[in-house]
Amino acid sequence: MLDVKKDFPILKKNIVYLDSAATSQKPLQVINAVSNYYRYTNANIHRGIYKLAQRSSRLIDSARAQIAKFIGADPGEIIFVRGTTEAVNFIASRLSPKIVTLSVLEHHSNLVPWHILASERSIQLEFIPVSSEGLLDLEEYQRLLRLEPRLVAFCHMSNVLGTVNPAKEIIKRAHEVGAVTLVDGAQSVPHLPVDVQDLDADFLAFSGHKMCGPTGIGILYGRKELLQAMPPFLGGGDMIKRVYLRSFRPNDLPYKFEAGTPAIVEAVGLGAAAGYLQSMDMDLIHQHEREIISYTLERLEEIPGVKVFGPDAQAKGGVASFVLNGVHAHDVAQILDQYGIAVRAGHHCAMPLHDKFGVPATARASFYLYNTIEDVDKLVEGIYKVKQVFKN
Ligand code: PMP
Repeated sequence: MLDVKKDFPILKKNIVYLDSAATSQKPLQVINAVSNYYRYTNANIHRGIYKLAQRSSRLIDSARAQIAKFIGADPGEIIFVRGTTEAVNFIASRLSPKIVTLSVLEHHSNLVPWHILASERSIQLEFIPVSSEGLLDLEEYQRLLRLEPRLVAFCHMSNVLGTVNPAKEIIKRAHEVGAVTLVDGAQSVPHLPVDVQDLDADFLAFSGHKMCGPTGIGILYGRKELLQAMPPFLGGGDMIKRVYLRSFRPNDLPYKFEAGTPAIVEAVGLGAAAGYLQSMDMDLIHQHEREIISYTLERLEEIPGVKVFGPDAQAKGGVASFVLNGVHAHDVAQILDQYGIAVRAGHHCAMPLHDKFGVPATARASFYLYNTIEDVDKLVEGIYKVKQVFKN
């Protein structure tokens, strides 16, 4: 198993951090890349001809190249955005699909942009149902495809149930009816090997802060032909080749979609994060988390009154959302916090999914490459302490 806790200074404080699905901790490699940028390089990009500005431009270019390599894309197909949420809103604002297929597993960031669009234009939203084990119903998906959606947008991995969806199959079937696909990779790109060529994805969105990088930066990957055909998103500096009083000519990819000064240091930090994860090997990270989640499910099953949602360990990543009979999820999280264990409680921005399972809230332990079997043991001990408090 991996042993990388030492790379993460915040974890030296004896904290059991089990909220990586919300945001991950940062290794020294990323903290240093950010700090060194401000110490030695800070300057705006693509403008100055002085050395600092050139170095700053080179650093953001090499971050883009590193991130492209990380997901098997071309750097021209990597657009810096603020995160997954912005990427989905971007696509919703640029494409005008008449029928959009989503799933019941979606995070609000892949629901609400479509609700907003549906309130402005006549679009039809369809949802792939989810089974009681937390798996997508692919037979029903096949039936929904007969409606000939223009876009299929779905999460690769659920942030609540941890379900890893068969993205390749979902995309292949969407392409058979001529639909374009948008993969929400917020939970998959940080944890599994994801390659856009292998998936044959048209668009892939993910967030830097969940993959050891800074907040405020994320990626929208788009297939070159689709990006070329799409009108710009925001207008302003850098996204143009030429501006006239009454018109403009857009810049080449990817700059056509990056108006104004980008989040430079955040992008540099994200490049360092992608490099760090790549040096660990994504297969090993995935394997590490599989071992942790298998052990977690085994241990949680032993505790009377605990119910974990979602599929078994083979079909999921490192996320365990659970309820403890008779105790509100917020109380579980609050008492665990007294023992230095950080878990999330609530609807995890997936209210319709919680509605489907008939619970308003769950407590969620989510794992990453720095978590250990001992962290799971502490979580289990902590839950027994919660039970003592509630005499449960
Ligand atoms: N999709 C999923 C599956 C997520 O887990 C999250 C973050 N919880 C998002 C989208 C949104 O990501 P962000 O807040 O970084 O934009």
